Amino acid sequence: MKNEKGSIMRPDALPESASRPVATPLSPSVVYASDTPDMLDQQYEGALHGYTYAREGHPNADVVAKRLDRLEQAPHSGVVTGSGMAAVSAVLLGLTRAGDHVIGGNQLYGRSLRMMTEDLPRLGIATSMVDPGDMDAMRAAIRPETRMIMIEAVSNPTLQVADVTGLAALAREKGVLLVVDNTFTTPRAFRPFEHGADIVIHSITKLLAGHSDAMLGYVAARDKALNDQLRIFMITSGMNPSPFDCWLAERGMLSFELRFDRAQATAMILADHLAGLAGIKRVIYPGRRDHPDHARAQKLLAGQFCNMVSFELDGARGAANAFTRAADGLRFAPTLGDVGTTLSHPASSSHRGLSAQNREALGMSEGFFRVSVGLEDPDALCAVFTQAVAAALES
Ligand SMILES: *Cc1c(COP(=O)(O)O)cnc(C)c1O
Repeated sequence: MKNEKGSIMRPDALPESASRPVATPLSPSVVYASDTPDMLDQQYEGALHGYTYAREGHPNADVVAKRLDRLEQAPHSGVVTGSGMAAVSAVLLGLTRAGDHVIGGNQLYGRSLRMMTEDLPRLGIATSMVDPGDMDAMRAAIRPETRMIMIEAVSNPTLQVADVTGLAALAREKGVLLVVDNTFTTPRAFRPFEHGADIVIHSITKLLAGHSDAMLGYVAARDKALNDQLRIFMITSGMNPSPFDCWLAERGMLSFELRFDRAQATAMILADHLAGLAGIKRVIYPGRRDHPDHARAQKLLAGQFCNMVSFELDGARGAANAFTRAADGLRFAPTLGDVGTTLSHPASSSHRGLSAQNREALGMSEGFFRVSVGLEDPDALCAVFTQAVAAALES
């Protein structure tokens, strides 16, 4: 009887150990028990640090937040969210009200664009999409009710570099928040807070976690009150991250800098290699001197041009099909930042909603590919591209 009764009781504490685990323990517990109501009071009031309910915070999320805080030199500990889009939504929905106006870079991540063009207007928040490299257009777009400008430092997939310094000055002058989605550039190449950004967003899912097995986001604000507002909105709206994803992401982030440096070095090699191949119309890489924003990239990114390379095949959809078929070992998948090199084809994925004419205007033909360079041997990787481009040329 006694045993039966005891079997539903949880142990009071973990088995004792004078030594500590090297790897961060995974803490899937949703609830945390306090000793007394007084103690719970103290926890809620912040006099004691303690977890209560996992939607409001848990150890694995805090471990991830601390790593990103350090990488971004965030003024206050940021908020980890269940996805990158949750972080974007927390900013766009949690810091605005009906009647506000929001300006977005015209080449933001597809879902961010969609939230700006479909969801914010539905809630009475006006939006304008503007080229973040065009300072005159940005200045002209600002209204008295403009709340924020959201941009990415390097645009997807055409890899244009925004004038972040100019935008930060403009935002300060006009009393508007500058929000930077730093997913592409990562804090290894670019720290938006150092360049005057008010809010920094990440999809941890991509390069930071790096293994395509965890989905998370992060957002941090320079202003303490805004940072608190974002955390409260994350909790209330249920954008909280899973402990297991945080645990996986931390594991990935341990090697983030090494992976980034290696992928970036290979990206430069691959960009130069592609530029020398017959059947390639143009190569876009901010590290190349023929990139229109090369000088700005050099200054803004301090010589770190990241791991994304875009290029255009000579030819239409048939050439694109032949290319992916012949690209042995490279995953044709709509993501970036994986340990393996991945290919994305905007015309059939991220930008399929646009008319062919609009895509052409943005510089994305049927032959346009975006490459997220991974950790393969650079020579072997170049060899795969050589034969895949040759196959496209013959098609
Ligand atoms: C992927 C991505 C997001 C969204 O992140 P998820 O983790 O997929 O929700 C936002 N911004 C950029 C630039 C991205 O690449």
